[in-house]
Amino acid sequence: MSWQGRTTIAGAVHPDRGCVLREGGISILQRTVSDSSSGAEIFGGLPTDNDVLERVRGLAGRLRRENGSLPENLDFTVPIGWEERIGHLDDQPIRRLIIFLRSTGCEWVEKTGGCTMCGFYCATSRGREISAEEYIAQFEYVMDAVDIGDYPVISIYNDGNIFNEREMPVAAIEKICSYIDGYENIKKVVVESRIDYSPDEHVAKMKKALNGRQLEVAFGFESADPQVMNLCINKGFSANNFGHFHSRMQGMGVLTKPLLLVKPPFLTEAEAVNDVLQTVSYCVSRGIDYVDLEVTTVEKHTVVHELWKNNLYRPPWLWSLIDLLQKCRERFGDHAHVYVSPWTYSVESLDWARNCGECDAEIVKAIERYNCHFDLAVFEDLDCSCRDDGWKEAIAVEDPRPIPERISEQLAYVQNTRLSSA
Ligand code: SF4
Ligand SMILES: [Zn+2]
Repeated sequence: MSWQGRTTIAGAVHPDRGCVLREGGISILQRTVSDSSSGAEIFGGLPTDNDVLERVRGLAGRLRRENGSLPENLDFTVPIGWEERIGHLDDQPIRRLIIFLRSTGCEWVEKTGGCTMCGFYCATSRGREISAEEYIAQFEYVMDAVDIGDYPVISIYNDGNIFNEREMPVAAIEKICSYIDGYENIKKVVVESRIDYSPDEHVAKMKKALNGRQLEVAFGFESADPQVMNLCINKGFSANNFGHFHSRMQGMGVLTKPLLLVKPPFLTEAEAVNDVLQTVSYCVSRGIDYVDLEVTTVEKHTVVHELWKNNLYRPPWLWSLIDLLQKCRERFGDHAHVYVSPWTYSVESLDWARNCGECDAEIVKAIERYNCHFDLAVFEDLDCSCRDDGWKEAIAVEDPRPIPERISEQLAYVQNTRLSSA
């Protein structure tokens, strides 16, 4: 099978211990820190973990500096694109419109190199501030092209953080919400943000403009495991911070949707499945019964891309996704509605969840059907020789090394390859 880069968006316009630095409104985990804003622990790791974190960020930061400059002639009044997906409202499947706005770019990338799997920054203005007027024009562009009133749920994604004033002026999202108030059929608006930013002003203005419609915040929770979160992903916060954020959102009448990462780098296939199970378990214990699985793809200029180029990373098997969904049902029953997000993003993917190539299309269609009603019966008749020949071998692979050690070794390998090919 040949792996051709793809983006499939429909609208084709398409921080030492105890020390928090604050720059531009974001708390930066330079080593291991306490979150002074929330009073919650961010990440208490061993000194060796700190060294590993610095190396992860060193590579991520170099990749950002190497990723070229902003393409000329980008029109910031035109969004990246939009796409229809299945959504859920009152436990029923409905049509959902995802709008990918061309944004300023995630501040976490500028401060730390960003999360190891995320290449979204390349789809943004890479730090050139998008004005409120430009964001509003982007939304008007979509309103002109699509009857947004056909969609009970509208997701507005900015490849970053809606609650960061620098990334999204509150005047812009307020105006966008007032436009949405003109469509009676729209019942819910979903936005995305890291949990670092104070959401109060944005939430208050959005809720007022939305005039009683539901507001949901999707955020990359990724993993309840602090080593996976901070070393494998470089997320910079932990489950405790999430708990604080979730309670705060609940207090403001805002729904939260954790996005869980399937197969972060540096984990074996079996560890990756188990990590999601543990994270769903954590969410269920917090009373969260809807989670989204975000399946890692290989995006350019990311740590994952460097690992993948060196055969140190493979996206998950589709069989692992099915296995994961079945185990979630066995363990959590109706307490966990687990939606599998299509792995189409605002940037090109070089590789994605796959099996042998022969059975992939059928399984992806089955996952799409599963997403409507969370009905596992759609997987009952699926089979392929690769289940025994490939996946069972992959799921049996063990890595006895502690996570910091394997990260350290893999990054050293990548570094040597980069030096020898320079
Ligand atoms: S995953 Fe989210 S927080 Fe991490 S770099 Fe990408 S946009 Fe920023
Ligand atoms: Zn197969």
